[in-house]
Amino acid sequence: MGEDVEKLKQRLPLLDYLRQQNWVARTTGHGSEFVGLCPLHSETRPSFYVNARKNLFYCHGCGQGGDLLRFVQLSRQLSFRQSLAYLQQHEAAPPADPVAVLEQAAAFYQQQLHRYPEALFYLKQRGLYDPAAIQELRIGYAPGGSLRRHLTVQGYSCALLQHLGLLNSRGCDAFYRRIIFPCCQGGRVINLYGRSITAAVAHRFLPSPKGGLYAWEQVQQCPEVILVEGLFDYAVLWQTGFRHVACSLGTHLNTCQFRQLCDRPRTVYLTFDADANGSGQQASQRLAQRLRTQGIATRRVLLPEGHDPNSFFVQGGDAGQFQALLEAAQS
Ligand SMILES: [Zn+2]
Repeated sequence: MGEDVEKLKQRLPLLDYLRQQNWVARTTGHGSEFVGLCPLHSETRPSFYVNARKNLFYCHGCGQGGDLLRFVQLSRQLSFRQSLAYLQQHEAAPPADPVAVLEQAAAFYQQQLHRYPEALFYLKQRGLYDPAAIQELRIGYAPGGSLRRHLTVQGYSCALLQHLGLLNSRGCDAFYRRIIFPCCQGGRVINLYGRSITAAVAHRFLPSPKGGLYAWEQVQQCPEVILVEGLFDYAVLWQTGFRHVACSLGTHLNTCQFRQLCDRPRTVYLTFDADANGSGQQASQRLAQRLRTQGIATRRVLLPEGHDPNSFFVQGGDAGQFQALLEAAQS
């Protein structure tokens, strides 16, 4: 074991490890010595010294010192054995590419879904019950309190996870009791949408850009596209067999989303919510006008009052009835 430790310390110098953890340092001018703020205690003046030649650290503020293993023990509150295992895993882990991290998070949430009956119950209430559709859309569940461990064991730093918004400022999982939809572009996960299964703050994305229309790549060649505003609308339509659907993730389209709809002649079926206050329909009218000025044909699909496509299917609507609404849609 002693030999393993020595080899590991040679392969992964303390200074390199600290820099991977975003430690910022400057040289002291004394040989191979560096100084920066101490990662082990809170301070405003740098008192954490690293001797790169000896591969050791010492902090004049908190009095801690030692080698890489000691640093990992202190910074992650692990035993010597756990620290060694952590570092071996850390070495094997791929470099931290944000897309890879989101991919890992999405896969983890997907695995959790089937372990939490409350998550499946919520999906059922929202009209989603087909395991194949749930799998194809990579829908997952964030129970809260377990993503951090899953990702840090793989060597991803808490700083990176916080930067991506997967952890909050206190270092806890940011998504808690939420159904998760990965948003992809070019086959890569670029954001995660979380819908709370309890009443608290219903919608959330990670701070990364939302990108273009959800599922655009599958429909961009279609001469007719159904546009919905919510991911649950999208999911029930997909489950029912409607595949020429894209989702704008809200009624306000960003520039990229608007350009996508206008990139070739097509007919867009605007299927926004029929809210009692009319806001969905007003947004739909405004968007129809803007699209028409770009030469895009539009049809406004009128759902029964108070309904969105999701609730339409939840309350017993079927594919034939929805098709009839599309055919009756006004230009
Ligand atoms: Zn210190």
